[in-house]
Amino acid sequence: MAVNRGIVYLVGAGPGDPGLLTRRGEALLKVAEVVVYDHLASSRLLDLAPKTALLICAGKSIGHNTMPQGAINELLVEHAKAGRTVVRLKGGDPYVFGRGAEEAEYLRDSGVAFQVVPGVTAAVGVTAYAGVPVTHRDASSAVAFVTGHNDPDASASHGRLDWAALASFPGTLVIYMGVTRLESICKTLVRLGKPATTPAALVEAGTLPRQRTVSGTLADLHRRVAEEGLGPPALLVVGDVVSRRPALRWFENLPLFGQRIVVTRPVGEAESSSAILESYGAEVLIAPTVEIQPLESYEELDRTIGRLAEFRWLVFTSANGVEGFLERLNVLGRDVRALGHLKLAAIGPATAGALGRFHLKADLVPRSFRSEDLAEALGPVVGGGRVLLARADRGRTVLKDELEKIADVEQVAVYRNTDADALPTAVAARIEQGSLDWITLTSSAITERLHSLLTESARSRVGREIRLASLSPVTSETARRLGWNVAAEAKVYTWGGLVDAIVEAVATERTNTSAQP
Ligand code: SAH
Repeated sequence: MAVNRGIVYLVGAGPGDPGLLTRRGEALLKVAEVVVYDHLASSRLLDLAPKTALLICAGKSIGHNTMPQGAINELLVEHAKAGRTVVRLKGGDPYVFGRGAEEAEYLRDSGVAFQVVPGVTAAVGVTAYAGVPVTHRDASSAVAFVTGHNDPDASASHGRLDWAALASFPGTLVIYMGVTRLESICKTLVRLGKPATTPAALVEAGTLPRQRTVSGTLADLHRRVAEEGLGPPALLVVGDVVSRRPALRWFENLPLFGQRIVVTRPVGEAESSSAILESYGAEVLIAPTVEIQPLESYEELDRTIGRLAEFRWLVFTSANGVEGFLERLNVLGRDVRALGHLKLAAIGPATAGALGRFHLKADLVPRSFRSEDLAEALGPVVGGGRVLLARADRGRTVLKDELEKIADVEQVAVYRNTDADALPTAVAARIEQGSLDWITLTSSAITERLHSLLTESARSRVGREIRLASLSPVTSETARRLGWNVAAEAKVYTWGGLVDAIVEAVATERTNTSAQP
């Protein structure tokens, strides 16, 4: 009999920031055939799963449309028994107040193999992002993880929790699921002996761009929280360590904290582009509008590579072009020596960087990274020699047109640029809702494709409440032609320049808001 290879991995997703997933969790998501996830899981984590994976949401939002636990258990067993690799992605750590143990026990009783991948639990992840250290040499040498689910005031049963013991606990209390019973929890702790002056904080949506923190004392926290209108998911921290927050807060101070940004670049470029935004505290959603694909036929490229001796200059207008060209050289059994007689030009630093990865140095990078400037810079140096332009199978022809005025130019396609069929559903929904701050535009093709992928109502939000950040005046012009305002435009026409433009716009806005009475 064939061995059933079906297995369920209970994977901790961390508290929200997709960067807090473990490497093992990532590796498993990448090979998952079925992913059963909680509502807290970020769409960036689901992006890691293969395109063919079945994604099942086990809970929409707190209290609404949540799949009953029995149904989740059954679902896991059913898919595993069908021989599939199932990732059960759970918020935080699977075994900390997540009913992970019940799921594991059910799997065991059903004869299904399982493994557990721990995650960053809210008590350590959310607090760290809020600037509260759960332990401190001078302030706290113990931490208790507590569920606030059971009403401490319900005199009949004090739940399964000994609140008197918690009130005298010599360390930090971290209380999960306590926001709706906040007042009762704080009052109970004080009634049972904890000083009313004990510092306490509530952190809503910790590690996410909408993280909000309210701090106070056991006596006044509930009032302050009510004033600010905080709600679930939220974590309560009680203890002297809370007073360290003013000095140790960092996440909320990041330049793009709170900004929700859509990156429309093709897969392959989007990941590295997102990293810099995320390091500035932004939430990034990836929605490629164009895709980079291999050519359907390599005949022409191969023939051109066979005639390289005819050219003096080889010009690249993208990192994809560099990679496509050099990969093909390799496939043809040749190497960089085939380029020995050529001068190399790159449109900008990213393209020059791609050459660098093959240990090649660009002889020319224009000062400003546009086709027009590249043509202008090449003008005086080509000196009648033939120029080969390696590029996508479509796109602007400005460079060729300009160069033709001064040199003998030939262009050859090294990769294909195709349109995406649709935006990822999660991104499309958030554009419709307007729950985004920025969309980045890095080329005219991307801008046009984005426009055609959006519904009429989504289009009308773009350029208004959802702002556009553009890589260059050419891209901005395309956006304007489509009826969209551009709120930020890169001064230097690189991804870094675009990010700087967003940072600047956000900083200006923050200054203006804080200057208001
Ligand atoms: N297994 C999860 C906890 C599940 S219980 C873990 O290990 O973190 C759900 C509770 O966790 C929420 O009610 C809230 O108290 C806390 N929580 C989870 N994510 C949170 C977040 N991003 N911000 C604040 N609290 C969070």
